[in-house]
Amino acid sequence: MSRIAYVSGRYVRHRAAFVHIEDRGYQFADGVYEVVAIHNGRIVDEALHLNRLARSLGELKIAAPVSERVLKLILRRVVELNRLRDGSLYLQITRGVAPREHAFPLTAQPQLVITAKHAKPVDPDHETEGVKAITIPDIRWDRRDIKSVSLLPNILGKQQAKEQGAYEAWQVDEEGNVTEGTSSNAWIVTMDGEIVTRPASTSILNGITRIVAIKAAREAGMKLVERCFSVAEAKAAKEAFITGTTSLVIPVTQVDDQVIGNGKPGSFTLALRELMIRERDRLQ
Ligand code: PMP
Repeated sequence: MSRIAYVSGRYVRHRAAFVHIEDRGYQFADGVYEVVAIHNGRIVDEALHLNRLARSLGELKIAAPVSERVLKLILRRVVELNRLRDGSLYLQITRGVAPREHAFPLTAQPQLVITAKHAKPVDPDHETEGVKAITIPDIRWDRRDIKSVSLLPNILGKQQAKEQGAYEAWQVDEEGNVTEGTSSNAWIVTMDGEIVTRPASTSILNGITRIVAIKAAREAGMKLVERCFSVAEAKAAKEAFITGTTSLVIPVTQVDDQVIGNGKPGSFTLALRELMIRERDRLQ
């Protein structure tokens, strides 16, 4: 069965899906995106993702190409057409197609593209052994709260991690505090058993998994604080982990050359991961 994509009003074979060369997403990275997980054929945390999408669009003054009601119908249709049970949808909205001028075009129509992906089997080592993160300077702009398709620093960071045998790169601000990973939010657990993650601000993307994990941890009576933490603190932590839509919670057992805790995924991390899995299944 061939994969089907949605491209501005049409459902087309993935292989034959194209956008115009003067799409401002292609020319300027003038657009925003979302990645939503599909579990048992259902869209996970849809309302939270659509809220964040509306916010990203609003901050960039890009008009929504379709109403939220219609967008929900299109998302469901893409899931159906691809017979997607477990996987993800990638949704991108750009400011549209127009002659290349920096200022906003007067007449361009925002373009909506949605693609579907079946889940890759997860690497079981990630959960049982944990992953390594390196630390790199955060060289991004000051509006990391907008889920912009402009991802060059993230790409360079992830590539550097890969070349150094790591899974993720934790970006670090000028004060020496961790902002977030290149495609995930960063967390530690202190020696006192306090779960720590950076507060939502313009310095990080407010991950949907982050929002759901905070709620789940608090409801389960875990101690959780939203505050900045330094690289030094991360290296001295009991546990560390990352969160993101497609992988939920992944233990981090090494930061640069420093092994975290006893080098194994920690109990808080695994408990939170379990809570998240249960919550996702409960909502289905
Ligand atoms: N930060 C960045 C920079 C990301 O790209 C992502 C993944 N989209 C996240 C955090 C995690 O966000 P979410 O939980 O919504 O996937």
